[in-house]
Amino acid sequence: MSFENLGLNQSILKAVLKKGYTKPSPIQQKAIPLILKRKDILASAQTGTGKTAGFTLPILQLLTKEKHPGGKTVRTLVLTPTRELAAQVFENVKGYSEFLNLKSAVVFGGVNQNPQIRALKNGVDILIATPGRLLDLHQQKALSLHQVEILVLDEADRMLDMGFLRDIKRILALIPQKRQNLLFSATFSKEIKKLANDFMRQPVLVEVTPENSTVDQINQKAYAVDKKKKTDVIIDLIAGGKWQQVLVFTRTKHGANKLTQKMVKCDVSAMAIHGNKSQAARTKALAALKNNDIRVLVATDIAARGLDIPLLPHVINFELPNVPEDYVHRIGRTGRAGAQGEAISLVSLDEMTYLRDIEKLIGLELTPEELEGFPLTDKPGDFDKPAGSKSNQRRNNRPKSGNSRRKPFKRKPKS
Ligand code: ADP
Ligand code: MG
Repeated sequence: MSFENLGLNQSILKAVLKKGYTKPSPIQQKAIPLILKRKDILASAQTGTGKTAGFTLPILQLLTKEKHPGGKTVRTLVLTPTRELAAQVFENVKGYSEFLNLKSAVVFGGVNQNPQIRALKNGVDILIATPGRLLDLHQQKALSLHQVEILVLDEADRMLDMGFLRDIKRILALIPQKRQNLLFSATFSKEIKKLANDFMRQPVLVEVTPENSTVDQINQKAYAVDKKKKTDVIIDLIAGGKWQQVLVFTRTKHGANKLTQKMVKCDVSAMAIHGNKSQAARTKALAALKNNDIRVLVATDIAARGLDIPLLPHVINFELPNVPEDYVHRIGRTGRAGAQGEAISLVSLDEMTYLRDIEKLIGLELTPEELEGFPLTDKPGDFDKPAGSKSNQRRNNRPKSGNSRRKPFKRKPKS
């Protein structure tokens, strides 16, 4: 199967060739013909498998068939959960439409809105937007949504996680009922399927891999580490392994800042990316990692969702996510487009239940290994069973019989 076989026009093929793609990915092979037939689709494919081109290429082709209706109208609306993702999809759209006469724009919060308003003044064929800023600009009449022909929800699962359901519903009420709907997601939950049922017309389900699976090219490892030693371990891994491009995940913004400072102190160049940073700082940090100006980018889940850093070799989970799907998204930042990658998780005893949930979700066992030079103070045997497992609980709640009552943690003084 080649891009030519998919029925895309010469200008689009030229742009794809320029990108260096030789063959459509499985999700592209399935989604492109359906979108060209103006079907609604509900597509799930592992992260890094080319979903952006999967919807953008056929949309471009459909848009070239008719002229822009004029005014401040938008013909295709692509909603994404984060600013970074919006910027990234916009870059892709610009690249793929280089040889076409179509206009695109991107709007997101955290930056001055005036350039965005100017970009929308004469209407655009494709608008990529985060929900909040879109509604804001719509209220200010900076754009009109009554001519939207195609709606795309990218990373729909994350949009729901981030609480955008209400905004999505408000946006749905502003665009024509008759339109084509495309929903893309890396994971499929009950909530996504419900959302899809509510607003799509008989969507075709496109699934190229088992739900929630991770790609084979990612070598996944887990290390059993005492909580207090995690910082030493991570610096040892990165500095000792001479790793140059590493994305590290922490659970909190504060944790991301703290870890970044410690790394910098140890001469490992690092920056943090999370929701409390200004848009300029976030863009700068991402560019620094991409250009190899820094070795480590420390991120929270939301900031890093969907980011495409070509050939990123290492992802480290400094802490495990408590939502198991986030693990799939985090490690999906590496091993993209067929490249090899490594994903390491530092697991402390209190995180064993998270690890078990992740293993269940991805259908893989990630038995934590002890690291040389970092012996566990927590009993290694404890890593064999989930924290708070039945056997532990039973020990504590054992029925107390007769005189064998013992107070826990109190030893009889030696006489
Ligand atoms: P997803 O949205 O599925 O997570 P992206 O659309 O961000 O993935 O694409 C991941 C990477 O794969 C990008 O760097 C993109 O340029 C590249 N890519 C997309 N399609 C192809 C293809 N057919 N051949 C090679 N690389 C591709
Ligand atoms: Mg994507």
